[in-house]
Amino acid sequence: MSASQGYWPLILKDLKTQVNSTVYKTWFSEIKLAEVENLGRKIVVEVPSEFNKKYIQNKYTSLLKTCINKFYPRVIHLDFRISKNSKKIQDSSRQEDIFAIQENLKGIKKEINDRNNTLDLNGSKNFYKKNINNLNPKYTFNNFVTIASNQLAVSVSEAIIQKPGKLYNPVFIYSGVGLGKTHLLQAIGQKMLSEKPDFKIKYATCETFFNFFISSIQNKKSEEFKEYFRNIDLLLLDDIQFISGKEGTQEAFFHTFNELHQQNKQIVITSDKPPKSLNNITERLISRFEWGIVIDISKPDLEDRITVIKDKVDRIKLDLSIYQVARIAEAVNTNFRDLEGVLNRIQARKQLLPDKPFEDSELTKILDGYESASMMTIDISYIQNSPQKILNSVAQVYSLSRDQILSKSRQKDIAEARQVAMFLLKEQLELSYPAVAKVFSRDHSTVIHAHKKITTNLSKDQKLTQKIEFIKQLVTTTKQTT
Ligand code: ADP
Ligand code: MG
Repeated sequence: MSASQGYWPLILKDLKTQVNSTVYKTWFSEIKLAEVENLGRKIVVEVPSEFNKKYIQNKYTSLLKTCINKFYPRVIHLDFRISKNSKKIQDSSRQEDIFAIQENLKGIKKEINDRNNTLDLNGSKNFYKKNINNLNPKYTFNNFVTIASNQLAVSVSEAIIQKPGKLYNPVFIYSGVGLGKTHLLQAIGQKMLSEKPDFKIKYATCETFFNFFISSIQNKKSEEFKEYFRNIDLLLLDDIQFISGKEGTQEAFFHTFNELHQQNKQIVITSDKPPKSLNNITERLISRFEWGIVIDISKPDLEDRITVIKDKVDRIKLDLSIYQVARIAEAVNTNFRDLEGVLNRIQARKQLLPDKPFEDSELTKILDGYESASMMTIDISYIQNSPQKILNSVAQVYSLSRDQILSKSRQKDIAEARQVAMFLLKEQLELSYPAVAKVFSRDHSTVIHAHKKITTNLSKDQKLTQKIEFIKQLVTTTKQTT
């Protein structure tokens, strides 16, 4: 798919704030967006010369990707293409170019140094330095929204901050991509640091751990490596799945783990799968991962997504209608990274045209590709009368539990309560049939059937009418938290 420049100018604008102006002018000012491919997973950018390509590839791939991901969160691959119009550097001008480049290099070197000194997430020679814990102040508990899907992970995190090494060790948190593992791990580190400033805390991606292990061997510094990890009070190891198939690193980690564990030092590990599903990792490590507590962060449901969006929207002071918030929540049901991508796009649009109201039609465009088959038409009542409230109220009136209503039981009163709940979700919240079906993990034809049945029965069954009226009242008058 050939792309218009889309968000590219905004990506460049963002980049501009992160590198010095000479660097920007020399390397980035002429890059263009060429293609977005593979359903948004790959971006091809057009650069003016081979030299430019090499330079960016060597020095700035990760920065460029970070900026791109803010607007295109799905992009995993970044490719470069040399512009067809690339002006062939003439011999006469080549000297000048080389000179300009040499001049710029001074600034660039300084800039790279500065960046390495402040940001050390990908590993650098500073890894062993005492005070470099790799914590990123961007990720705190303060901006981590606790919702049903991560509640257990948050509670356990808070508990271990109070009693590190004593309650659950290790803590093993797993989830799909973009659901908050890194954020939570970082938040644990920050909180611990503020509670116990003397604690030696280390956040590392498993990849960093691997790189340092390898370089310790190459540089014959295995002892230094061991010593370093032996002295950590809180080890936060992100993306352990990366260790798969790397036997030497597994061995090194096994010993590190044992040392720390024996000294009751807290270990928190994240992964994209539960321990048992990790491939090519020795059984003895897997069993250690399960020694403490294993927790998953599941995909958030619609209501939780709304909660998170509302929080983020408030933080960045993005003025969206409740309808728009709900539509985003409905469409972007993948993960929070995608969600942030959408909010960044909206924010960018609002900043570009601050006086022009943000239309629903524009939102439709931004949500293109996210919007699921179940486009729903919801209104403000959705937020006030959440599905949970309706389910709770139906449960109350029928003297059943919410789980019974969500169950597959065919028992007469349960089945009727379920159909009433489906009917009300459809009517009161104006949810689409597929959206209601999702709440009950059923097929949408079941919801259509339930809706028809209740509509028909309402005209002849006065008791049912009364019940439904009572439920509606409950929904609007009771304060319910879940
Ligand atoms: P993972 O490590 O699981 O792939 P991240 O921690 O990188 O996911 O999260 C992706 C993005 O979503 C981050 O910008 C993060 O701040 C945000 N995010 C994830 N979970 C939450 C949450 N519960 N509240 C607020 N933001 C969240
Ligand atoms: Mg992560």
